[in-house]
Amino acid sequence: MNIQMVDTTNKVVAFTFDDGPNPTYTPQLLEIFAEAGGKATFYMIGEQMAAHPETARLVHEEGHEIGNHTYTHPNMTELSDEEILSELSRTEELIKQVTGSRAATMRLPYLAGDERVHALLVREGYPALGALNMDAKDWDMPGVQHILDHTRDTVRNGSVLIFHDGYGDRSQSVEAVRVLTKELTAKGYRLVTVSELLRMGE
Ligand SMILES: [Zn+2]
Repeated sequence: MNIQMVDTTNKVVAFTFDDGPNPTYTPQLLEIFAEAGGKATFYMIGEQMAAHPETARLVHEEGHEIGNHTYTHPNMTELSDEEILSELSRTEELIKQVTGSRAATMRLPYLAGDERVHALLVREGYPALGALNMDAKDWDMPGVQHILDHTRDTVRNGSVLIFHDGYGDRSQSVEAVRVLTKELTAKGYRLVTVSELLRMGE
């Protein structure tokens, strides 16, 4: 199953960004996190990494985590085992070029997985990450206020939060994240990567 949160007494949340890297929106997020003094996790699409390698490198250089979000963003439940492995490994090659190591976690496109897909991911050593604020639907451009309201509801120790920095206009996501990072750090939350979060749950 997709991991949506981790049980921890630490006051931490993990911001995640899907579908980048994007040369317009990803650097804006990097600036926001530099200001907040926190780290995030970017679930990158291989095709986008190939198109914007300099943006991917910037994410890594600033100390953020890069996760695997497949190469072409397919619905994995419709693919054969071989095709699934290829989607992961093609992206993994690009991630290794940037970070020197393989991704620690992945996120399924559309969060779509069944028993077979999840068993394959377990075998390959990929925790699959979900998120608690799915109702925020930032990918639908529902308005900054909607994203804020439906994310604030889900913030607690160990929450994983999902936003998007690729595919289309992501200005609402960026604005919402700007507000949330300020708000949460003021309340004493630390913004950590997914790997850091998973370690706290062990
Ligand atoms: Zn996606």
